[in-house]
Amino acid sequence: MLTIRNHIGGRFVDALGGTTLPVHAPATGQVYATAPDSDARDVDHAVAAAQAALPGWWALGREGRSDALLRVAARVERGSDRFAQAESQDNGKPVKLAREVDIPRAVANLRFFATAILHQQSEAHLMDEVALNYTDRQPVGVAGCISPWNLPLYLFTWKIAPALAAGCTVVAKPSEVTPLTAHLLAEAWAAEALPPGVLNVVHGLGAKVGAAISAHPGIPAVSFTGGTRTGAEIARTAAPLFKKLSLELGGKNPVVIFDDCDFERMLANTVRSSFRNQGQICLCGSRILVARGLYDRFKEAFVARTRALRVGDPTDAATDLGALVSEAHLEKVLGHVALAREEGGTVLCGGERVRLPGALADGWYMQPTVIEGLGPQCRTNQEEIFGPVVTLQPFADEEEALALANATPYGLAGVVWTRDLQRAHRVARGIQAGIVWVNSWMVRDLRTPFGGTKQSGVGREGGWEALRFFTEAKNVCVRW
Ligand code: NDP
Repeated sequence: MLTIRNHIGGRFVDALGGTTLPVHAPATGQVYATAPDSDARDVDHAVAAAQAALPGWWALGREGRSDALLRVAARVERGSDRFAQAESQDNGKPVKLAREVDIPRAVANLRFFATAILHQQSEAHLMDEVALNYTDRQPVGVAGCISPWNLPLYLFTWKIAPALAAGCTVVAKPSEVTPLTAHLLAEAWAAEALPPGVLNVVHGLGAKVGAAISAHPGIPAVSFTGGTRTGAEIARTAAPLFKKLSLELGGKNPVVIFDDCDFERMLANTVRSSFRNQGQICLCGSRILVARGLYDRFKEAFVARTRALRVGDPTDAATDLGALVSEAHLEKVLGHVALAREEGGTVLCGGERVRLPGALADGWYMQPTVIEGLGPQCRTNQEEIFGPVVTLQPFADEEEALALANATPYGLAGVVWTRDLQRAHRVARGIQAGIVWVNSWMVRDLRTPFGGTKQSGVGREGGWEALRFFTEAKNVCVRW
């Protein structure tokens, strides 16, 4: 049994309350580790350590902070095999996916912000012979970083790297469902003998640790990725305290397929955008909208490809879908399939739990699922499912495609498949979302703004946007 500990002030410590939470391996359903069941007292302790470390971390300068993050990145990269196995064990995703996507991307996040900070410029505004204004961007202070379970280290580093590069110290809370790789990252920090108190990791439940971070007066900025309901709760707590907030929330992303698309390329990508990471990526397409003339051909080919996907042992290189993250989440996703049936939908394939043999018999596996026959306003097409379930809807023309694409309260991402460049621009502009891919999916450049509109969030991450979030801009006006 593995013991995960908080990392506070450079020390690995248990929760002050002395209690722990079980950590399950989704592949087997068995408990394999414990994590601290921390509360507000542990957050207080971490904030005090982070405040004490702030002047020294800032004084290290850009080069010093950059060097520290690059050393951590190199250590994670050297240990990527261990990190990939840990991520798979904790989350249920195929090891292959963690090795190809999660861990390289975590390394890239650290390197990207470690080097970006070296190139950050200050603006100057010259008032001819009157005054010179320059913008001094100072770290906002102690940053609170709260991340979810679907891409654990990938999203954890996406927050802490810009915060640390900008000169903030951090109190971070990974999801209690997937605490392992954040713990390994804290070990990498400690192994590099980096300053204590700069990166503090407090494990525990959202309702206790996450809520304490949102409410703590010593944390002036909170960067959160997770569900829309949790985001609203954090905003309710943090707004009266005038905290800076970055909220990356849920989605119900449309994939809009026109009949002039490159069919084979679209098909392969749509299978990926539907079921990668068991459909548990905020950017996954969950509503597939298809031009009526192409609908039957698409349906037949897509269902055949979906049926051919292999649900299996996450350690097997031939596995396409591993386990869902928790039993509660599996039940929630299966509940959505039952609801779709009640609403009159037809399950074209999948829809059931998968029982694998032997040691994996109690794991949380599910068939990839395709549903048709439901209108845009039913709950199945309105609520985020966040699992391996997609719906198909036909559209008559571009106008209807856009109306369907925008018919939810969410606005995170969208995908457009067409060979008509004019149409691609029109539809990309018309989709209400923070991110649109044309003839591709999940092609990511870390310099680009990342985030959602409507109920998918507030603010943008990535590139300069993230460094701006973790700094306060001060205008200094010097008389000529
Ligand atoms: P949750 O909102 O349940 O949790 C996210 C994090 O917030 C966890 O660390 C959680 O802790 C914590 N938390 C829970 N309650 C509170 C609270 N009251 N105050 C502060 N923190 C709290 O989301 P999930 O972990 O279930 O993640 C899935 C969701 O994340 C989906 O809706 C998905 O769309 C969204 N997401 C959005 C992305 C984006 O970039 N827009 C990217 C990836 C995911 P605990 O685990 O203990 O509950």
